[in-house]
Amino acid sequence: MTVRVRLAPSPTGTLHLGTARTALFNWLFAKKEGGSFLLRIEDTDIERSKEEYIKNIYDGLQWLGINWDEPPTIQSERVNEHKQIINTLIDKGFAYKCYASEAELDEMRETQKRNGLAPKYDNRHRNLTPEQESEFIKIGREPVIRFKISDQKLISWNDLIRGKMTWSGKDLGGDMVIARRAPANSIGDPLYNLVVVADDSAMKISHVIRGEDHLANTAKQILLYEALGLNIPVFAHTPLILNSEGKKLSKRDGVTSISEFKRMGYTSEAMANYMTLLGWSIPEGINERFKISEISEIFSFKKVNKASAKFDWDKLNWLNSQVIHEMSAETLLENLDPLFQENGWHLPSQEWGINLAGLIGPSMVLINDGVDQAKPFFEEPELIDDGKKQLEIKEASVILKFILQKLESLDASVFSKQIAIDLINQATKKCEVKKGLVMKSLRAALFGTLHGPDLIQSWVLLSRFSKDRTRISRFI
Ligand code: GLU
Repeated sequence: MTVRVRLAPSPTGTLHLGTARTALFNWLFAKKEGGSFLLRIEDTDIERSKEEYIKNIYDGLQWLGINWDEPPTIQSERVNEHKQIINTLIDKGFAYKCYASEAELDEMRETQKRNGLAPKYDNRHRNLTPEQESEFIKIGREPVIRFKISDQKLISWNDLIRGKMTWSGKDLGGDMVIARRAPANSIGDPLYNLVVVADDSAMKISHVIRGEDHLANTAKQILLYEALGLNIPVFAHTPLILNSEGKKLSKRDGVTSISEFKRMGYTSEAMANYMTLLGWSIPEGINERFKISEISEIFSFKKVNKASAKFDWDKLNWLNSQVIHEMSAETLLENLDPLFQENGWHLPSQEWGINLAGLIGPSMVLINDGVDQAKPFFEEPELIDDGKKQLEIKEASVILKFILQKLESLDASVFSKQIAIDLINQATKKCEVKKGLVMKSLRAALFGTLHGPDLIQSWVLLSRFSKDRTRISRFI
């Protein structure tokens, strides 16, 4: 079988983590099977669909390295085909016009509730006579179109993740609406289950891989495939992603869209790596840190759990720090430079930037951490508690005075690690103090605090602007 899978996002919001994870599982499966991964934009909800969301979805997928193999299908462009299929279903007796008004349907549901029954359409207009229909039309009723679902029908499929699944027709809510209300001589807007079947079939989709929240839809869609005499694809329903409290991950959890993770400073590589692990148990002996391009060979739905996956920030952070630590200083600088520019910080030279990236990279977890860590190299830092205390020690100003005098007799452009080490040693000797005291006082004067990366390297970078001199001179 030629494997053709698809992601079918509705552009009514930005690319959600759950959708991106579904995309990834589809993509990995397509890669493994040598098949195609396609994209279909389900934009039939005209009011809520937005161009900017379509762009956000494309950008997010591309950023993650998930590329599609054919131009995307735009669902709204196929509305005529969808209506044709609805006509076929009506002609063959699988669908009919239902004239029940919203008020009547509300009343029906209320009665069901009062009698302790689950609300469900009671198929009341399934067998209207032509006379009854013309009566409704005469009084101006506009029908929806419903697809017949027999209560007796059992629907089964072999789910690649969940095994054998069976649904009973009686649990599907009665005859299903497949087109919105519209004048009786026309077909209203076709609805989700109908259009998905029409499009998946037209796109020759072999496997439908999507979230487990679509299980009931799958049962309904199988009935449509059968009625239309179409090939039924294989289904795989992926587990939901839960927050740390075990609830479905939602907007309330703060970050849920891929573009937000990107903005926070997560790398595409760590995100793709982490999302693959959300629900998939990695085979033993394989490192959890991987590139998605390397993992498709061993990806399998057999190892995707039925149970929901809990979102684990610690693991994502760990993976992100791994990715950053593996980056060359050049690559890290490429990631940091746009953020530096946003802050109005300009690199004195490429080499200087690479050295800075190499210096701060090992302690970064998020790309954005680099901004905080680079800030004291571009902007004069505030003197904070530990730095302040250090500079109150009486020897501190003597040490700094000595170092400043030495610096003033030096050309800033020749300052080097060796000169920095020599100056520290000379100050230690001359001021008759411990070397630690010299280093701490110097760090406090240069960076305002006692914490930070390697002092010698930091000093050399700072000297490039002669900023070391101006900063030290504040404390003598
Ligand atoms: N547009 C649907 C969604 O975003 C697609 C579901 C499917 O994959 O069939 O949930």
